[in-house]
Amino acid sequence: MGTVVKTDPTGITIEIVYRGIFQKTLAQRICRSIVLAARKRGYTGTAFGRYGDSPERNGVPAKYFAVVAINDLELESSMAKYEPKVVDIAVAVDDTLVKGVESWAWYGRQPIWKPVHEGGAVLVTSDKTPDQVLAQTDTAERPYILGIVPGLASFAGLWVFKDDHTDYRVLGALAKIAPDWVRIADVKTLIQEQTNDGSAVASAQDGYDRTQLRPVTVGEGTSGHEVLQFEKPGWTTMRPGVIVDARKPGERNPYYKKYGARTLRPVVNFDTCIKCTMCWLDCPDECFEVTPEGHYEVVYEACIGCGICAQVCPVKDCIVMVDELKFEDNDDKWQLWKTDHDAYNRWFEQKSGVSADPKTVAIGSRSAKNAAPGANPTTAGGED
Ligand code: SF4
Ligand code: SF4
Repeated sequence: MGTVVKTDPTGITIEIVYRGIFQKTLAQRICRSIVLAARKRGYTGTAFGRYGDSPERNGVPAKYFAVVAINDLELESSMAKYEPKVVDIAVAVDDTLVKGVESWAWYGRQPIWKPVHEGGAVLVTSDKTPDQVLAQTDTAERPYILGIVPGLASFAGLWVFKDDHTDYRVLGALAKIAPDWVRIADVKTLIQEQTNDGSAVASAQDGYDRTQLRPVTVGEGTSGHEVLQFEKPGWTTMRPGVIVDARKPGERNPYYKKYGARTLRPVVNFDTCIKCTMCWLDCPDECFEVTPEGHYEVVYEACIGCGICAQVCPVKDCIVMVDELKFEDNDDKWQLWKTDHDAYNRWFEQKSGVSADPKTVAIGSRSAKNAAPGANPTTAGGED
């Protein structure tokens, strides 16, 4: 079998795009195993991460790399750079990353295929079809192969590695799309040696067998994502020192967009909201704006999707966290509720899968009984 992806005959570069800290160990394990599997056929290679994760980088897109070459000389020549600008395969271990990533040493949002050369591949772990994933991927400027490894996003890589076999399935998928560099037999031998576990070996074969490949042609994908690129000052126009412009109260920094860190987003049922202010108080990124009626609406450009608002909201299903790939834009939604209440509620129900009818959700909510809307200092009913 020939290589499905087009590669240079002397080596291959694979990047793993992962959610900072949550998936770091996962990315590390995949890259290390790519190199170790390639060594079984006499190739050489190296695996490296781009920076150390720290807790404030939770969810932020980050990258790990594996470079394999036919000999040390080719490896050394391909390694004379800090981060490969061009890769043969980009692997996204969370399908919401296909909405674009803000990469290291790069201002603005990059399409997930940005560093992949013509004829290369984008491999995504997802429970969706290739067409559904492509519908959320930026319009292709050059042809590539989209591969879908069946499975949910694995958050198996915080302080302790939770082994759900995502790494083995991704390795099997890589053997399918780049068999000249990653052989399935080598992958299985390596996993057997590492784990002595037949189910882990079977997972690699499963990734190989069940990964779906879909050729993507120029123009396919979505043009719906925000174009987010900034002019960087040259050294003659740069101001002296480090200057962080102050923002006026209520104003957000237009250059600091955080939504790329989001895998889930909150949707709010304004009909059941009791205006208790808990979401507004506890959101770590100050994403909530108070509406003239005293409701709290999410500013999606600022939301990182941490889910704290949904946890602290005392009303059952008033804030529901929803898969980020179900949304095409970052538009705030309270205006729709105001102008077309029924349309908003249909939107809420369609996205969340939860009834918007207050009769079905608020009554009997133990927490709701404990809440005190009269204590809300931002509404006319407040006692402050
Ligand atoms: S999920 Fe909720 S609490 Fe977290 S950043 Fe978004 S709006 Fe704020
Ligand atoms: S926490 Fe829930 S009930 Fe309280 S203001 Fe926010 S959305 Fe409304």
